[in-house]
Amino acid sequence: MNRTRKTGRALAAGTLLVSLAAAAPEEERMEKTVRTDAEWRALLTPEQYRVTRQQGTERACSGPFHDHHAPGTYACVGCGLPLFSSDHKFDSGTGWPSYFQPVVPAHVATRVDRSHFMVRTEVLCARCDAHLGHVFEDGPPPTGLRYCINSVALRFEPRSPAK
Ligand SMILES: [Zn+2]
Repeated sequence: MNRTRKTGRALAAGTLLVSLAAAAPEEERMEKTVRTDAEWRALLTPEQYRVTRQQGTERACSGPFHDHHAPGTYACVGCGLPLFSSDHKFDSGTGWPSYFQPVVPAHVATRVDRSHFMVRTEVLCARCDAHLGHVFEDGPPPTGLRYCINSVALRFEPRSPAK
């Protein structure tokens, strides 16, 4: 199968993934991005590293995206995989950017997080295992889910006005 097939949309750098997102069966074979700890430290800012590689949490309202309303896609800061869309973003009032669903379900992974004397569902990038935040079951329709995500785990890519 030709994995470099382009869609008709205007694509930014790293766009193979956007193409893959449009071709659902390809998601099953997503290849992992694996880096050493030293490589992640070199690639990320200290705060990005602390949150995404050490399961940290940014201070509420400290990130750039909790009150951010521009149309576009929020990609993984570690590997560029599109994770969330402004179309699914809502104001949760928590101080963290919140979404009721990922842009493509297979782009996020979840696992049980029993830290801090709580049982929560951790949300990770499916490709590079970056810690993104947690998902809770008190979100709005249509899913009832609230993906509570750290701004520093995300990189915003504005939607092309030519679309
Ligand atoms: Zn990633």
